[in-house]
Amino acid sequence: MNDQQLLRYGRHILLKEIGIEGQQYLLDSCALVIGLGGLGSPAALYLAASGVGKLLLCDHDTVEFSNLQRQIIHRTSTIGQTKVASAQAALHDINPEVECVPLDIRADATKLRELVAQADIVLDCSDNFDTRYAVNAACLEHRKPLVSGAAIQFDGQVSVFDFRSEEAACYNCLFPEDSVASELRCATTGVFAPLTGIVGALQAAESLKLIAGIDRGLSGKLLTINALDMQIMRSKLTRDESCRVCGPK
Ligand SMILES: [Zn+2]
Repeated sequence: MNDQQLLRYGRHILLKEIGIEGQQYLLDSCALVIGLGGLGSPAALYLAASGVGKLLLCDHDTVEFSNLQRQIIHRTSTIGQTKVASAQAALHDINPEVECVPLDIRADATKLRELVAQADIVLDCSDNFDTRYAVNAACLEHRKPLVSGAAIQFDGQVSVFDFRSEEAACYNCLFPEDSVASELRCATTGVFAPLTGIVGALQAAESLKLIAGIDRGLSGKLLTINALDMQIMRSKLTRDESCRVCGPK
């Protein structure tokens, strides 16, 4: 690490749980961020500010006026640009050391398999179940840790599936694909802006700790947040032995 880096990341290096070694892990790592919306915005900002060396940014949307209420990585001046280009510019402004790879594509199963293989950690910041199941399957296949987040109305959740362990439950154990009720989307139901910030920041926090080798937090757990009463609950995930995705084939 050079003097500039020691200065930039000094407040992390001062933490005994991170230190020089943990910061070096961050600098050497690659994170895949799927979705640059309400959750991906704060998540990517914190990963870049913290010096995660390489960010693969995946989203196929363009920035719209109605996004700006919560998607804080984007600007009024970037309306009409692809979200990945808009995000890349904002991240470069904060930390030009971080290599951002903008991927203006829809994350389908084939593409995800290829992208997950390149990453050390995956943040699912998407807004639909199809993507979530595809991300889960790809992370399980490549045994990469997955930090999953969701937010709708005043309710949010974060969970960590650390597939480096054979015992880890998967997203499908938690929400089996065939039992998911009709999808709520914030376009029609609304979402409280700071809730997306809370959930996205939690995803960044869990990801940074996983990369830095800190074995404490939400691994194998589900955190739920109700931002109306401001109640936060944590529960343990149990693996479904008959899960169609991670169970016996
Ligand atoms: Zn499972």
